Amino acid sequence: MNAGVRVFAEYHRDFEDVCDVVVVGSGPGGAVVAYELARAGKDVVLVEEGPPFTPEDFELDGALSMARTMREGGLRTTRGTIMATMQANALGGGSLVNSAICVRAPEFTLDGWCDEFGLEASTRADLDPHYQAIEDFLGIAPTPDDVQGPRNLLFREACDALGYSSEPIARNVRGCVGSGECFNGCRARAKQSTDVSYVPAAIEAGARVYTSLQVQNVLASGSRVWGVTGRVVRPFTEELGHRFRIQAKVVVLAAGCMATPVLLQRSGVANGSGQVGENLQFHPGVAAMGVFPRETQPQFGATQGYQSLEFVRDGYKLETLWAPPGVFAVRLPGLGFDLKRSLSMIPHAAIWDAIATCNRSKGRVRARRWGMDPSLRWRLDPKDLTILVEGLWRLVELFFAAGATRVLPGVHGLPEEFRSLDEARRIRSREFRETDFTLAGNHVFSTTRMHGDGRFGVVDEFGRCHETDNLYIADTGVLPRSPSVNPMLTLMALARRTGRQIAARV
Ligand SMILES: Cc1cc2nc3c(=O)[nH]c(=O)nc-3n(C[C@H](O)[C@H](O)[C@H](O)COP(=O)(O)OP(=O)(O)OC[C@H]3O[C@@H](n4cnc5c(N)ncnc54)[C@H](O)[C@@H]3O)c2cc1C
Ligand code: SF4
Repeated sequence: MNAGVRVFAEYHRDFEDVCDVVVVGSGPGGAVVAYELARAGKDVVLVEEGPPFTPEDFELDGALSMARTMREGGLRTTRGTIMATMQANALGGGSLVNSAICVRAPEFTLDGWCDEFGLEASTRADLDPHYQAIEDFLGIAPTPDDVQGPRNLLFREACDALGYSSEPIARNVRGCVGSGECFNGCRARAKQSTDVSYVPAAIEAGARVYTSLQVQNVLASGSRVWGVTGRVVRPFTEELGHRFRIQAKVVVLAAGCMATPVLLQRSGVANGSGQVGENLQFHPGVAAMGVFPRETQPQFGATQGYQSLEFVRDGYKLETLWAPPGVFAVRLPGLGFDLKRSLSMIPHAAIWDAIATCNRSKGRVRARRWGMDPSLRWRLDPKDLTILVEGLWRLVELFFAAGATRVLPGVHGLPEEFRSLDEARRIRSREFRETDFTLAGNHVFSTTRMHGDGRFGVVDEFGRCHETDNLYIADTGVLPRSPSVNPMLTLMALARRTGRQIAARV
């Protein structure tokens, strides 16, 4: 497991390395770029701050798991509108802990990107060959019924009853047993997170992979960059050790939409436009719990197995959801005995969520004076709030259509539970404030967005920074705005194109 990956115990002194391309970050963006470049014969070093995980390392307890796999223990939040947002710190990045949902961005969304951001080669037809190649490589396929489990199939029944379209979610898994543990890390190693797919393939093609290295600065002179520097970091602590420097002909930053702008701001690179760290966008999500007369045993079944794209043009997507109870308990009512009562309903429950496009709601990322964690500010626009409310209403409607006897909306100012759809109609007539919702947003975009005009964006549509000859970005920061659906597959398609573009130039 993790053969060829250099780990913390192997760094005994300060060190230097030289390569054609250094890639920072091993998540869905960085791993794909590293693979494409290595297979094209380039000398690649892939640097990752987090450690590699094996199935024995995964924790089933939600809090413990977050403390080990996530930055700031999984408790990172935005200021302005307070919202929780999680970024992983591990070989594989977010793909280690995500639900493996892989959806191509709709044609209308990509057309909108091209029209509004001066892009010429990013329509669905342009990206389809890249989507297809990633899907083939990872074995992406719709979730089969035999691993759906009752809570996913109830969602399908509900959509059928109301005449809404629905479909099994396509995921990057091979041999999923429906354990519902995607959030903790897949002990069955069925999920094709990049640590078990693209990273090993990159190593096989000759890439060197160094974990437990925190890149702290990009080295630049004039319009060229020439490497990165940083420190060794002890896993699960923030303890810094030996120093390193890696020189390269090309630098690719794929440290994630929060970390890449921090690196650029600290290094004073590629920010003549002032756009680095601006335009921060999320897919904020609301979730509700429906309780059914019969047992659903929701811990079984694909973590997120069914979705409805019926309302994507209206700005939201509906999905089934599962996570360790300690994680979603923040949306359940009550404390002490009352909370215990809510938790006792779980064997009869299902949790479904709505994620919203929210293109009007923006924020920014800033480097702090010390350390690498970002300062985040973001505000939910009132019009986007109405879309989230609409999403919540649809979830409640679906639960009752599937036969739920009560629905817990988890929103301040509403009753703790609705017993009928009639009771729930007040959702549509009530005025809400953003603070009434317990929001979470794990899809993050646009802090180094692509734009055809370098005055308004940081990179071009192939990921190259407008102001530098040899600095590229390959994480979700490059998305010009929301992809309307879960972002990973679109990021990987863009990263594949970026990797090929670099390979042709180095
Ligand atoms: C719980 C959860 C569930 C999700 N579910 C889905 C889903 O099902 N489908 C979907 O499409 N999306 C999902 N997402 C979002 C998806 O995982 C992210 O959009 C995706 O991982 C982003 O990829 P990335 O390469 O941009 O960044 P990341 O995946 O964040 O990777 C960045 C990597 O860079 C490393 N890094 C950061 N700073 C440094 C540094 N200074 N030096 C060295 N390395 C550094 C990080 O440790 C990390 O490994 C989910 C996210 C979460 C948190
Ligand atoms: S549902 Fe379980 S087996 Fe399937 S990919 Fe997720 S963690 Fe792995």
